[in-house]
Amino acid sequence: MTTKVFRITDISRAALEIEEAARIIRRGGTVAIPTETVYGLGANGLDGEAVRKIFEAKGRPQDNPLILHVADESWIERYCKDVPPETYELTKRFWPGPLTIILKRRSIVPDITTAGLPTVGMRYPDHPITNALIRAAGVPIAAPSANISGRPSTTSFEHVLKDMDGKIDAIIDGGDCAVGLESTIIDLTVKPPRLLRPGGVTLEQLKEVLGEVEVDKAVSSLLGNGEKPKAPGMKYRHYAPKAPVTVVCGSPEKSAQYILKQDLNDKGVLCFDEYAHLFDRERTLSFGSSTDLKAQAERLFDALRAFDELDVREIFAQCPTEEGLGLAIANRLKKAAGFRIVDLGRD
Ligand code: AMP
Ligand code: MG
Repeated sequence: MTTKVFRITDISRAALEIEEAARIIRRGGTVAIPTETVYGLGANGLDGEAVRKIFEAKGRPQDNPLILHVADESWIERYCKDVPPETYELTKRFWPGPLTIILKRRSIVPDITTAGLPTVGMRYPDHPITNALIRAAGVPIAAPSANISGRPSTTSFEHVLKDMDGKIDAIIDGGDCAVGLESTIIDLTVKPPRLLRPGGVTLEQLKEVLGEVEVDKAVSSLLGNGEKPKAPGMKYRHYAPKAPVTVVCGSPEKSAQYILKQDLNDKGVLCFDEYAHLFDRERTLSFGSSTDLKAQAERLFDALRAFDELDVREIFAQCPTEEGLGLAIANRLKKAAGFRIVDLGRD
């Protein structure tokens, strides 16, 4: 199929494009959408046949559920029941924004959207184009990240085009994504609430609102054989460049020294800006200063994708401390590495 591209720079002049994209969604088609986290691959979340096309275009396993994107918190009750009051404390503080809330679903949400789970993930993204599209379509948009399953998520129009051209009906080019990592996922159907995926809203921020928050084991370690993940997506290989990755944790100084000591012939290095000069220029990519977590989050997936264009057999990556946004960055790096981790300690 030919994938149509809508290039939108000024939302106030994009009414026709938004209406055309909304029509594609209403007719059961697929549209890649910009959000503040990563690009999403969207379809009508209430239309099982449309949602099936998302799984097909991505090559995504059917047991990995999708998140419903809505136009504000008033949409929650349409698709969810037994909504606990904390939900609205969270939406008040963090919506629109990079926070997905897992709630009990109503039967209007088809099984394929939630992979048969009795729960559904809800998010109100902070992006004017996508919000206008959801309103115009009048239906919740189910959207996982717009990458081929297993690859790093897409944070620019170019990434989406590379993975999805010819496989979906349309892509809306809304420029680069501001956060660069997928949303934080918090499950409010269990007590205490459980963090299933760290993201732009940090664990520390969630605790300020919810008090106790349990961090799912799959966030920082590989699940053992036979262990059942709470979020099905957690068991799959994720975010991976072609070459195998080893993540080196410890102070930036220590991790840089450790990587320097390896035989770096044919190997790539993903490092903080301050250390780039230590390594071979051709096979080294930096992703922000060691003190700038926001830049690291924004640039991580682009860097992981860029290694596929370089001739490297293996990649060593420096890892930030797991505080604030660092927890999300470290989580994506560890998953990209299939939890191949060298831990040097912090002191
Ligand atoms: P993606 O948008 O590609 O990051 O994928 C969506 C993520 O949300 C996956 O990791 C899913 O496992 C997770 N997710 C979606 N719905 C649910 C749910 N009802 N319960 C737990 N996790 C969910
Ligand atoms: Mg994804």
